[in-house]
Amino acid sequence: MQVYKFGGISVESADAIKNITEIIRTTDTNIVVVISAMGKMTNKFEHLVDMYYSNQDYTNVINEIKEYHNNIIDKLFDLKHNIYTQINKLYNKLEDKLSEKVSTNYDYEYDNLIVYGELLSTTIISAYLNNSGIKNTWVDIRESIVTDGFFRDAKVLWKQTQNNLINNFLKRSIIVTQGFIASDNKGNSVTLGREGSDFTASIIAYCLNAKSVTIWKDVQGILTADPRIFSNTIKIDKLNYKETVELAYYGAQVIHPKTIKPLQNKNIPLFVKSFKNVAESGTLIYNDKTNITSPIIILKNNQVLISISPKDFSFIDETNISKIYTALAELKIKVNLMENSAVSFSIVTDNSNKINLLIKKLKPYYLIKYNTNLELLTIRHYNKNKISELLKNKDVIVEQKTRYTARYVVKNN
Ligand code: ASP
Repeated sequence: MQVYKFGGISVESADAIKNITEIIRTTDTNIVVVISAMGKMTNKFEHLVDMYYSNQDYTNVINEIKEYHNNIIDKLFDLKHNIYTQINKLYNKLEDKLSEKVSTNYDYEYDNLIVYGELLSTTIISAYLNNSGIKNTWVDIRESIVTDGFFRDAKVLWKQTQNNLINNFLKRSIIVTQGFIASDNKGNSVTLGREGSDFTASIIAYCLNAKSVTIWKDVQGILTADPRIFSNTIKIDKLNYKETVELAYYGAQVIHPKTIKPLQNKNIPLFVKSFKNVAESGTLIYNDKTNITSPIIILKNNQVLISISPKDFSFIDETNISKIYTALAELKIKVNLMENSAVSFSIVTDNSNKINLLIKKLKPYYLIKYNTNLELLTIRHYNKNKISELLKNKDVIVEQKTRYTARYVVKNN
C-alpha cells in the first residue's frame, strides 16, 4: 500500500482536481489519498474563526467559502449529482456550529471550525473520483487518528491510532481521507499544526507499514533554496532522513518537520514529486549515504530576537534555563535559534501574538529586550563564497557556525 498526499495547491481548482484524478488512476497498488483543504481555504477559515470569536459579522466570509467550493463543484458534476446534498449537509453543520455561543477557548473554536476545509475538499474529491470510475471510500480520519487533545498542536496517541487505522483502513483498496485533522478521546476535533497534512500521511504510513509515501507538490522536488526568493536553485535527487529532518527543522517549507520521524523509524521511503510533471523523478528521501555538496539555503523572515537576563544578575544556569523553557513550552513557542552568555539568554522565534504573553510571564524575574523584523538565514554545507554572497547588504546580529551549518540572524540594510 502507498500513501499519497495532495496539498492545497494541487486541488485548488476543478482542473487541478482533474489532474490529480489522473495521477491516482495510474497507481497500481492500494492507496490512501490524504488531502488538504483546497487552495488557500485554511487561511479563509482562520479568518472566519477570528470573526466568529470576536463576535463580528462573518456572513461575507461564509459566502466566499461556499462560492469557492460551489464553483468547483459546478465544473465537476452535473446538477443532479448528490454531491450538492452532501455539501449542503456540511454547510449546515458548519452553520450550526457558528450559531452556538462562542466559548472563551479560541483554540477549541479554531479546531472545530477549521476542519471543514478538509471535510469539504475530501467529500468533493472522493465523489469526483467515484464519478470518474475510480471507486474509493471516503473515511473520516478523526475516527482513526486519536490525540492528547491539545488544540492546534495535538500529539498523536500512537497505539490507539494504529489499532484504529488497522481496523478502518486495511481492507480497502482506495481510501480518500483528510490531512491535518484528528480527534481527542472525548470526540472533539483537533488539528496537528498548520501544514500538518504531510504528517498525517506519515502517521498512516507508519501505522499501516506502507511501501512508500509520495508528497505531490507544485515544485519538482526538494530544491537547494526557495525558487521564489533565490535564483539558480537546483533540485536534489536524493536525501537521507537526517538531512531532511534538519532542513525541515531549520524552516525549509517543503515538508512538515514532524513527517520524517515515523518514516525513518520504519525505513519507509518518501518521494517529493511534482503533480505538474509526473514523469520527473522528484526527490527521494530514504536511508541514503550520498553526501550533499551543494549549499542548501533556508530563509525565515519575520523573526524576533528576544534577550532575557536575570534581574538579580545570576548566571544563565540550569535553573534559569529551565524556568525560561517552561514558559516557552507552556506557550508552545518554538525556538528557532538560541544562544547564551554568562548573564543573558537569547532566543530567535517566529513573530506572533504569543511573544507578549511570554514577556508577561518572564517579566517578574528577567529584564527583556527584543528586536523584530529580522531574518534567520541558514546555510547547510556552506562555503565562503556562498556566505559572502548571501550576507551582502545585511547586518549580522547573531552568527552561529558548526561543521555543516552556518546560521545568521540578520537585518536588511
Ligand atoms: N490545510 C492545512 C493548512 O493549510 C493543512 C495542510 O495543508 O497541510 O495548514
